[in-house]
Amino acid sequence: MAGERVNLLGLPRAQLEAFVAQRLGAKPFRARQLMKWIYRRGAADFSAMSDLAREFRTQLREVAEITVPQIVTEQVSSDGTRKWMLRMDQVQGIETVYIPEPDRGTLCISSQVGCAMDCTFCATAQQGFNRNLSVAEIVGQVWLAQRELTESRASADGRTRAITNIVFMGMGEPLANYRNVVPAMHIFMDDLGYDLSRRRVTLSTSGLVPQIYKLAEECNVALAVSLHAPNDELRNELVPINRKHPIDELLAACWHYIDQQNGRSVTFEYVMLDGVNDKPEHARQLVRLLKGHPAKVNLIPFNVFPGTRYRRSPVAAIARFREILNDHGVIATTRKTRGGDIDAACGQLAGKVTDRTLVRLGAKLGGGALTAVET
Ligand code: SAH
Repeated sequence: MAGERVNLLGLPRAQLEAFVAQRLGAKPFRARQLMKWIYRRGAADFSAMSDLAREFRTQLREVAEITVPQIVTEQVSSDGTRKWMLRMDQVQGIETVYIPEPDRGTLCISSQVGCAMDCTFCATAQQGFNRNLSVAEIVGQVWLAQRELTESRASADGRTRAITNIVFMGMGEPLANYRNVVPAMHIFMDDLGYDLSRRRVTLSTSGLVPQIYKLAEECNVALAVSLHAPNDELRNELVPINRKHPIDELLAACWHYIDQQNGRSVTFEYVMLDGVNDKPEHARQLVRLLKGHPAKVNLIPFNVFPGTRYRRSPVAAIARFREILNDHGVIATTRKTRGGDIDAACGQLAGKVTDRTLVRLGAKLGGGALTAVET
């Protein structure tokens, strides 16, 4: 019965072990074999799994499947950055970006179809929010990218890994999809999954404070926080979630996270918007917030997108800002913009989103029932 098949992609090890035990009466090592096939070798077909007994493979086909998202388009930038648009269902699409560098390969993945955070300088926000991605849809992005990258490097150095780092810096707010993002991160770090160390998996958040505390108890990854402003007045405007969780609460959660996880530092992302948040006084305010704490600042030159009211800060303003931070003992770097020619840079990911929050608003204005939006 096809409808009852379980997608094994995205089942963390303990769940996969429980599945093979309960549904197939198999030992836990079968689950480990399956994980190796799915993640290490990128298999999506049980019949290719040659070290599994034929009978076990037949059984598997009846109750399980390995379903991955479909690629709609692939674009390759002049700098080697690749962007895939993936079909999530009949209408919705999300984007995944691969950024090759000499010493590493970073995959930037999405956690939601659209985003509900409404940051004023982000293209994804303009698309509105549709839904959370499932664990399979999150892990599927890595599975697909790995397959594509391996194929395109067919005869290249097979020993170097294409994907060395995974960052949740694509579409969506990962902590608003906590339930599915955390199991996906466990698969990224599992040695039978993608076997990445905790420093090579980065969760970037606009600042959902309660979920940062929860994460501190449950999952040990690198934390990046989209700060973007050094005071509440400005941050309320740029990152509206700040009205609910202001800067002092957010920073307290960050320091707690580092303590709890024995981590090195939190990376604070700061988008450089001309004349808005890029003045020397903003840099000095930022110093007062971060000095003496386990913090690093990553300045991101603003990437324009159609319809935006912002401009990128001039190179000199960014350099000046960084200098003030560094001179006062706050480590700051400037992010190199990659993939701009294919709209793959930070904040340019738009995908294909049917906004359910607008649907909801429409229903509300029309006096109809409020459609629940899961965030
Ligand atoms: N929702 C998460 C994940 C998105 S990460 C978060 O807010 O952290 C993407 C990073 O790019 C964030 O730091 C985001 O604020 C930044 N960004 C968004 N729009 C941008 C733009 N137009 N130019 C440069 N950076 C942008």
